[in-house]
Amino acid sequence: MYPDDPVTIGIDIGATKILIGSVTREGKVVQQRRYDIDLSTETVLKSSIYDSIDDYMAGQPGRNVSKTIGIGVFGHVDYEHGKWLGSMRLPGMSKLHFREDLQEKYGFDIAVDNDVHAATLAEMYLGKGRQYRNFLYVNIGTGIAAGIVSDGRLVRGAVNYAGEIGHIFVGKDMEPCMCGRNWCMETAASGGGLIRRASSWLSDYPDSILAPLIQSGTVVSMDIFLAARLGDSLAKKIYKEFIWSMGIGLVNLVNILNPEAIIMGGGVMQDEWMLKELSGFVYQNAAKVPSSALREITLTELGPQVVGLLGAACLAWNYEGMK
Ligand SMILES: [Zn+2]
Repeated sequence: MYPDDPVTIGIDIGATKILIGSVTREGKVVQQRRYDIDLSTETVLKSSIYDSIDDYMAGQPGRNVSKTIGIGVFGHVDYEHGKWLGSMRLPGMSKLHFREDLQEKYGFDIAVDNDVHAATLAEMYLGKGRQYRNFLYVNIGTGIAAGIVSDGRLVRGAVNYAGEIGHIFVGKDMEPCMCGRNWCMETAASGGGLIRRASSWLSDYPDSILAPLIQSGTVVSMDIFLAARLGDSLAKKIYKEFIWSMGIGLVNLVNILNPEAIIMGGGVMQDEWMLKELSGFVYQNAAKVPSSALREITLTELGPQVVGLLGAACLAWNYEGMK
């Protein structure tokens, strides 16, 4: 890279931190800074976000920076107006109008979308999604969400809510989901759901090898997958329902959307053994025609440390391309 090569500024706002970075057209993060985020009140949140942007931008003069800044944030985003509408995780938090607040101040266009739509665009421009015009990016972390790329375009839906697959109906009378219903895929198949189930079902399996980890509050989904492989009864029950619920969700998506590939990302999807079993379920149960058109179910190659920033920069490129 030459010093004068253009970079795009991406901002990745998560529940625990804000990352701001400069990304080249080749998808290389050449500079980044991490800031703490304070979610205690709306005013504090607002200033923790805007102060970090101020700090990062102060270090940019003289750089060849492209004219749109991309912002990826968790929760619901009004894409058209560049406004963050909040998140189920932060009830009562009111809207932050990123475009209105930042556009004039910095003289840049501002593109805002949710973090999973942003990661999907990163797949489309820089990851395995480059090979496909129709694919799904599925992120399994604390919750579950997806990005749908159909005919080369990210599908946003009527109010930019397309891809919230965590709330697909997978069975009756399960534990309540954050959305208030009690039949959601997320309850059985997200990282948060797996851990909650391990804790609440432990009393029926006091001899589980997971007991010390659950009791100390340090259990993670990989421990549950590993324990299932070792034959632990509690882990096997959680794992079986994980494959079943995630599998139902993916089968329905394949039948509806006819993708060429499903690219999986997020903290829970680091286990090749589980991916193999999940793929088996999908290929076996999806309808014949879309199943044979599905070329792969695969893990993303974009690292979890950079995908948020890459996605934010890709949002900016996508926004410029759409105007
Ligand atoms: Zn739900």
